[in-house]
Amino acid sequence: MTVTTAGQLPDTMHDVIVVGAGVVGSAIARELARHRLRAAFVDASDDVGNGTSKANTAILHTGFDAVPGSLESRLVRDGQRRLATYAAETGIPVEPLGALLVAWDQEQLAALPALAAKAERNGYHNARLIGADEVRAREPHLGPGALGALDVPGESIICAWTATLAYATQAVRGGVDLHLNCRVESVTSGGSHHELTTSRGLLRTRYLVNAAGLYADELDRELGHTDFTVTPRRGQLIVFDKLARELVRHILLPVPTALGKGVLVAPTVYGNVMLGPTAEDLGDKEATGATAEGLDFLREKGRRIMPELLDEEITAVYAGLRAATEHDDYRIRAHARQRYIAVGGIRSTGLTASMAIAAHVTDLLADAGLDLGDGHELEPVRMPNLGEAFPRPYQRADLIAADPEYGTLVCHCERVSRGEIRDALASTVPPGSLDGLRRRTRARGGRCQGFYCGAAVRELFEARR
Ligand SMILES: Cc1cc2nc3c(=O)[nH]c(=O)nc-3n(C[C@H](O)[C@H](O)[C@H](O)COP(=O)(O)OP(=O)(O)OC[C@H]3O[C@@H](n4cnc5c(N)ncnc54)[C@H](O)[C@@H]3O)c2cc1C
Repeated sequence: MTVTTAGQLPDTMHDVIVVGAGVVGSAIARELARHRLRAAFVDASDDVGNGTSKANTAILHTGFDAVPGSLESRLVRDGQRRLATYAAETGIPVEPLGALLVAWDQEQLAALPALAAKAERNGYHNARLIGADEVRAREPHLGPGALGALDVPGESIICAWTATLAYATQAVRGGVDLHLNCRVESVTSGGSHHELTTSRGLLRTRYLVNAAGLYADELDRELGHTDFTVTPRRGQLIVFDKLARELVRHILLPVPTALGKGVLVAPTVYGNVMLGPTAEDLGDKEATGATAEGLDFLREKGRRIMPELLDEEITAVYAGLRAATEHDDYRIRAHARQRYIAVGGIRSTGLTASMAIAAHVTDLLADAGLDLGDGHELEPVRMPNLGEAFPRPYQRADLIAADPEYGTLVCHCERVSRGEIRDALASTVPPGSLDGLRRRTRARGGRCQGFYCGAAVRELFEARR
């Protein structure tokens, strides 16, 4: 098991290197771990899932509204099934709440039958139109004026952080090296292999997979292609306090527009409620800050959807950048002669599709000549539970009896115990920062945002380093 964050990189020839350890790169690394290969995945950041993958709306989509016949449609549908099964096996929190796509005016109402037909074309057969009375009965706190909805019972909420971490953990335990703080700066491709110049030195590999998210277009150009350009599409979100959770029963989706899925109201698996995201095309791939205009826009939308929500307290705001391109599909391309696979344009659905993308990319590698040999099952992993719908360690008398550290709370807002923090710090893929520790445990992620527990959490984090 090798995770490195500094120092010398291995001076060996790899069979495959994956650039990017977001949810997509980590899923690919996990898939590669099923084969006897010398493989590695590398990330510029100090942690896995530290790019777009840490800041999405965490919906496990059915793909009912994808473009029928597109690669995205196929991979989202396949990915949803794979990830739902994997989540049940590994303990990634998922809540199958179902979604209501609410129509607020006649035009939106008139659009619903076409969306139901689109769902059918995407192989999703459970969507049905419901009237205003049923909408109101199922969501009593909805604002006035909802005219009807498309009921999509298969939509779920999931913990995006644990999904990425589970993939990366299984990949590393399965023998794939993970090198963090390792930015790929340039690539030289010769007859038999690629040489990657990284911020930590040289890496050599026969096959290369580009899962660099927002930077996938730049790496693609490094390899001589101009297939797509990433225009970051920012999504700002507001997270309301857990006291708001009783207000919302479903994922409340708007009728989608050309710019994307629009502003939703949805519970999180941690027991909060979120409102967002915005959809703003930007020129800056680092612009993950929230803005006053963005938050005003969300408040205005949210007031219409659920006025009472706006009276609740806000725990946090955040923003993520989707890797939008000029194409309305993923840009996954095999350049077989070059032994290179570009995994670009993984935009609003990459979390859901991640495991299917990984299987597809592995097939493309085989088609491009990589000898995978027989695949084997990976050792199962069991991830720590962060979901409020499932027993957390502080609620489990059996765990606390065996180890009192699980009964000693450090973060009181999120009820995170010393035992969980200790375990995260000693885990296969340990956090590189306090934020990484938060994503693994929820410590400092609650109502006080670390005001009370911050010093104690930092002390535990520093002591382990
Ligand atoms: C607001 C918002 C809401 C969303 N909602 C959903 C949702 O509800 N459901 C869903 O399924 N999807 C959703 N998505 C989409 C999903 O989050 C993305 O599709 C997914 O996270 C993309 O993962 P990735 O691994 O491709 O990219 P990333 O997570 O960005 O990973 C790419 C990694 O590559 C690394 N990297 C880049 N360049 C280099 C380099 N030169 N060298 C080394 N490393 C490099 C980066 O550090 C980064 O960690 C949403 C996205 C946003 C922004």
